[in-house]
Amino acid sequence: MSDLSFEAALDARVDEMVDACTRCGKCVEACPSVKPAGLADAMPKDVISGILDILRDGDGPEASQRWAQACTASGDCIRACDEGVNPRFLLAMARVSMAKAKNDLPARRRKALERYRDVGREVSFLSQIQLNDEVLARLGQKSASVNTTTEPPDFVFYTGCNVLKTPHIALLALDIMDTLGIGYQVMGGPSHCCGIVHMRPGDVEMSGRMGTNSIDKMSQSKSGQVISWCPSCYVQFTETTLPALERQRGARPFEMTPFLRFLEQRIDQLTPHLRERVPMRVALHRHPGVSGVMEAAIRLLNAIPGVTFVDLKQPALGLQAVYLNVLPEYKRELTLNELQAACDAGVDALVTVYHSEHRELCAHERDWPFRIVNLLELVGESMGLKQNDRYKELKLMQDADQIVADCADLLASHALDAAKARELVVKDMLADQPLPLRSG
Ligand code: SF4
Ligand code: SF4
Repeated sequence: MSDLSFEAALDARVDEMVDACTRCGKCVEACPSVKPAGLADAMPKDVISGILDILRDGDGPEASQRWAQACTASGDCIRACDEGVNPRFLLAMARVSMAKAKNDLPARRRKALERYRDVGREVSFLSQIQLNDEVLARLGQKSASVNTTTEPPDFVFYTGCNVLKTPHIALLALDIMDTLGIGYQVMGGPSHCCGIVHMRPGDVEMSGRMGTNSIDKMSQSKSGQVISWCPSCYVQFTETTLPALERQRGARPFEMTPFLRFLEQRIDQLTPHLRERVPMRVALHRHPGVSGVMEAAIRLLNAIPGVTFVDLKQPALGLQAVYLNVLPEYKRELTLNELQAACDAGVDALVTVYHSEHRELCAHERDWPFRIVNLLELVGESMGLKQNDRYKELKLMQDADQIVADCADLLASHALDAAKARELVVKDMLADQPLPLRSG
């Protein structure tokens, strides 16, 4: 174990990548954000050179700053680089550098804390209006987030925070693992933060402390593996926190595997459980940021008897839908085009993978002649497993008073105030709609 601080370990990694970068510009050429960010005419070599300036002094050319801010974390740049550099990581660090140059540490810490509190409030409110204490405990919330058994689990299943807003997705993942006989302990939620919320505004040490603390809690499975749901947490851990920690401690505490890749690795074990026919023509809403996950999703869809997979041939970018918020007009255009393409193809359902697109897309079901379902709902249906998509049920109402009335029992059991709940339903659920619904 070295006495290197988290921030110094991160800086050392950045320095190595900056040294390895030949400024060839291939990462910029490959990036799907460049054109929608208005950088099509910028010289790729100049843009990446400017990123290296920003990493050094927190400042650089306008085009490079714009590229850093327009990154949706698709990862095409990583695949394009022949030098083993991770430009997505460098851009994340360039954004941190810009945040540091703009605000002093107390201001950055305040901003990070505010966002951390907001995330905690959104996650706990939206999960509580859908779940009772028993189900929250199954998802690692409440007292179950503390492991009371002495025996380490085979695997840790790390939910992250935001999937708890659409809990049926996480519950189906657990149901599927139960059916396959996989032993796990669930961890996640704001008490097991990955640190990304603190990293974005530039509070690096706090991000490291949060992430390291969560990593220490997760480092106790027999297999030495953590199965993760959320792509943002996955990238934060595997590209930032775990490599920095490895530099500090000389060893990596565990390997992390995205849930769908984990499931795909067990497809032979899964297939005999896919018993029920699910006769549907389906298209997939894709975000390719974590390599192999969309391919795993298509393989799983094709393994479900009765499912016909239709490729809509729409552009796919970003880590998950929320990452496209940096390009709002382009995001609206892509979403509308995809909904129209799904309609033209006559599909029965547009299938989401991650939680953020599920939240943003599900209410569009009101306006189009097909359903919005999550991939795990279809896998579950074929396995005879069902979890109600309560989030969609509520959001489809599009009426805060009706939603609050419908959740009255759970509001009472969690001692939540109805007037406050109404305000949060509008803010945390109904406003989470980047492409407005046609029906208003
Ligand atoms: S990060 Fe890789 S692809 Fe991008 S300029 Fe440097 S060497 Fe080239
Ligand atoms: S991660 Fe994607 S959006 Fe970000 S720079 Fe790389 S290619 Fe561009």
